[in-house]
Amino acid sequence: MATLAFWGFFVAGLAAFVAQVSHRVRIVAAGPNSFSIGNLPFRINRFVLDVILQRRTIRERPAAGLMHALVFWGFAAFAGYTSVEFLYGLGLVDLTHTAWFDGYRRALVPFASAVLVGILYLLIRRAVVRPIALGTKVSIESIVIALFIATLMITFLLTFLVERGTGVERANWWVHMLVILAFMALIPASKHFHLVLSPLTVFLKSPELGNLPNLDFEKEQVGLETVTDLGSKARLDAFTCVECGRCQVNCPAWGAGKELNPKAIILQTQDALLGGRFETKLGAVYSEQVLWQCTTCGACENQCPVGIEHLPILIGSRRGLVSNGDAPEYLGAMYLNLERRSNIWGLGYDQRTKFVQSAQLDTFDPAQHDVLIWLGCAGSFDADFQKSLRSLFSILRARNVRFGVLAKERCNGDPAKRTGNEYMFQELANGNIEDLKAAGVKKIVTSCPHCVKTIGADYAKFGYQVEIVHSSVFVDELLSDVRSAKASAERPGDRPAETVTFHDPCYLGRYAGRTDEPRALLTRFGADIREPERNRDNPYCCGAGGGLLFADKEEEPGSRISDVRFKQLQATGATTVVTACPFCSIMLKGAQASAGADTQFVDLMTYVDGKLQPRA
Ligand code: SF4
Ligand code: SF4
Repeated sequence: MATLAFWGFFVAGLAAFVAQVSHRVRIVAAGPNSFSIGNLPFRINRFVLDVILQRRTIRERPAAGLMHALVFWGFAAFAGYTSVEFLYGLGLVDLTHTAWFDGYRRALVPFASAVLVGILYLLIRRAVVRPIALGTKVSIESIVIALFIATLMITFLLTFLVERGTGVERANWWVHMLVILAFMALIPASKHFHLVLSPLTVFLKSPELGNLPNLDFEKEQVGLETVTDLGSKARLDAFTCVECGRCQVNCPAWGAGKELNPKAIILQTQDALLGGRFETKLGAVYSEQVLWQCTTCGACENQCPVGIEHLPILIGSRRGLVSNGDAPEYLGAMYLNLERRSNIWGLGYDQRTKFVQSAQLDTFDPAQHDVLIWLGCAGSFDADFQKSLRSLFSILRARNVRFGVLAKERCNGDPAKRTGNEYMFQELANGNIEDLKAAGVKKIVTSCPHCVKTIGADYAKFGYQVEIVHSSVFVDELLSDVRSAKASAERPGDRPAETVTFHDPCYLGRYAGRTDEPRALLTRFGADIREPERNRDNPYCCGAGGGLLFADKEEEPGSRISDVRFKQLQATGATTVVTACPFCSIMLKGAQASAGADTQFVDLMTYVDGKLQPRA
């Protein structure tokens, strides 16, 4: 009788689980296929680190992350126990009285205790502490699930205290098993579905941060216009969000008081999918204004513990808007510059030629030169950034590096790609690839981190592979024999070390993962580095990326991202701010001017060259 009753509860719980899961599976399967499993070794390594070892969960919030990890590891340890109890309850096979099961049960005691501690900590955090990232409303669902988990652990531990074969033992068993079945029925419709889905989404997440596959115009792809266009990975992501708010609190736009909230983007996607609003325009699901507030800094994707990719949704939706002529006005002007003059400022080509001549740069010849220096739009036309490039040339010449430049360069296409103008990006990219191939270039050095990402990763999607490194990486290696000045700076009587703060550009620190080389260069020349809030591979954006360099700053809602970042840099108390990206430099100097501050800004190459000059 008891077995029959258990079968009844089991079938009901399973049916509820399967019905909800199959509804979601159908939604995911109906989307255009965007799953890929290339670069397996990288994916397996990340799976081990982020799923099994819970690296990303623990990294940003060590205490809460560790408690979550205890719950996760405990759940994994209980898988065999739960299976055996189900087999027993269903009357299929009784392994509960075997010696090995008894040993296994005893081994689970520390796991159960750890889960209990972890879940109580998380429950208090959600219900009482309520950090802003978790939302202002107390989630009843989260509390119910936490109480379920606590009950499971308590009923398990009670099995060691109650006498076997008694009514109390049977009642305890029933509570334990019915809670599991209720849990099963509840999780697909809750954020706890990530227990099932996150191993998949972490594995399926692209190895490339901010991966934006090329559109195939021959197949009439134009980007994401309606909910129907969302690919299978974006749909799966929407059902996996655990609502932790890591993406939200790390988003510079949200941090500066704008409407964009990457967590809301994912939850709005989930609502639209579950609500069957497939014909709704994505601009209406998220609001068009919000879509244009993203700087493409990559913080959301990089911090997400369950492998959710925000940028394919945000930029994909921008592509859809651009294809319908719905880009903001400031982008229209930039696109015109790119179309007419192949650079973002629409300046005459003679200005680049003048710079090339005055800096005595040779046209690249593979027989004579080791590397190609890619100037980029800023290097070709921005007088301020050209000073930095002159410093780079001076360092390279002092070390006998043979380098040249292309006779002609177009913009690499980053501002077009990241604002959703894929057609223009492909025109620029294909022209540049043709020229780079014709010139026989094997290695490129550039001072623009956006060029590193676009030429290195986006051009590779056309089958063009070239080694491209940021000047900080190249020069750090070049000067590796320069003795560290730190020791001499610490000798009595020497001048105290200069206090410097380094602003990691998003496309260097986060996208390229190059955070040691700029610091190594600074410390080698005696700088005392004061780290700002948000540094290294999780910097706070300067606000220029994703085409926002061109946005009308007066019309921006909230604060300016660059102002927020400038204050963070100022708070270090350092006398000098060092940057390593032309766009960071423009934005932060603008913030400095509006703050009326006298902080000194220096580009990394100018800083290094300035220290080398007296030794020459
Ligand atoms: S890429 Fe950066 S700006 Fe855009 S949503 Fe993510 S965190 Fe926010
Ligand atoms: S998208 Fe990722 S980081 Fe953002 S709330 Fe969801 S799970 Fe957390």
